[in-house]
Amino acid sequence: MISSPSLTAPLTDPEHRAIRYLRLSITDRCNLRCLYCAPDGRVPRLAHDQILSYEEILRVVQVGVGLGIRKVRVTGGEPLVRKGVVDLLRRLVAIPEIEDVSLTTNGVLLESCAKAIFDAGVRRINVSLDSLNRQRYAHITGYDRFDRVWAGILRAHAMGFSPIKINVVAMRRINDDEIADFARLSMAYPFHIRFIEYMPIGNSRTTVQDQILTPEIQDRIRVLGELVPVEGQKNDGPARRFRISGAKGEVGFISALSQHFCDQCNRLRLTADGKLRACLLSDRYESLKEALRSGKGDAAVADVFRTAVQKKWAGHRLGADDTVPVTEFMQKIGG
Ligand code: SAM
Repeated sequence: MISSPSLTAPLTDPEHRAIRYLRLSITDRCNLRCLYCAPDGRVPRLAHDQILSYEEILRVVQVGVGLGIRKVRVTGGEPLVRKGVVDLLRRLVAIPEIEDVSLTTNGVLLESCAKAIFDAGVRRINVSLDSLNRQRYAHITGYDRFDRVWAGILRAHAMGFSPIKINVVAMRRINDDEIADFARLSMAYPFHIRFIEYMPIGNSRTTVQDQILTPEIQDRIRVLGELVPVEGQKNDGPARRFRISGAKGEVGFISALSQHFCDQCNRLRLTADGKLRACLLSDRYESLKEALRSGKGDAAVADVFRTAVQKKWAGHRLGADDTVPVTEFMQKIGG
């Protein structure tokens, strides 16, 4: 059988970037309400039938695989609150063409799920953690759950997940006095501590005033020792990686603002309600859900991929003079 070129020609955008990475936000629900991620007040939730089923998500991935997708990450909302997520992970791991399946979680449910996730075949997880101080953690996230998250991280470490990346959004006056403490964790554990520049998007409770950029973050870490660059690997994300001399783990920096990496961006994002976004920092999207539910075949789904990729911006506009504000919340996009 000859497959249609629309289902097999690799996705390449007008900037000649090969698109290989699909992030799957599987739910808009979260069991935390982080200051910088969720808005104040009630967040309207998607109705059940607006959310893609696992079968629909897997179909999107299968079509994506035909177009060159080789790496997927499951995110949310909080992915571990959606029933059946472990089975989804197992089915993603079983797709032979996918070279890398990873999970981003806030870790609240990790202690109880770590074994099942490991048994599903996932080895790489990112846990978001913005404070090592219990009271402050509760202030940032709205919930007193630090102990559970830390227990989850240690459980995942004992299970053999590797690497375990800890995502820290660095924010002035909120957690910037803990930057060195987080970096110090990479001396004691083989964790990859990744400092993420805060991106002022959506109607969250933090602003651009809270932003602290990578050069300043690095200066605060250098008190612990020299930052030695670590060579990147094939499926690496945008983090610039370093090791503090003598450390077991690494520190990394995701500098979407101070040193953006748009020229290397190989990503698409699928939201829980089936929107395919070509740029984290643009509200533009194409509706995959419509194509999935239209009764048309996979070629229609592939066409949506191609349209999104053709419209992918050369670079984001956040912080630029002609910036267009991003109104969607990170909680819905999945980071
Ligand atoms: N609930 C999961 C978690 O907490 O990891 C997955 C979703 S969360 C939206 C994904 C990542 O986005 C987290 O690491 C979070 O810290 C990051 N994030 C959310 N809002 C952000 C912002 N405004 N700027 C930078 N990173 C942000």
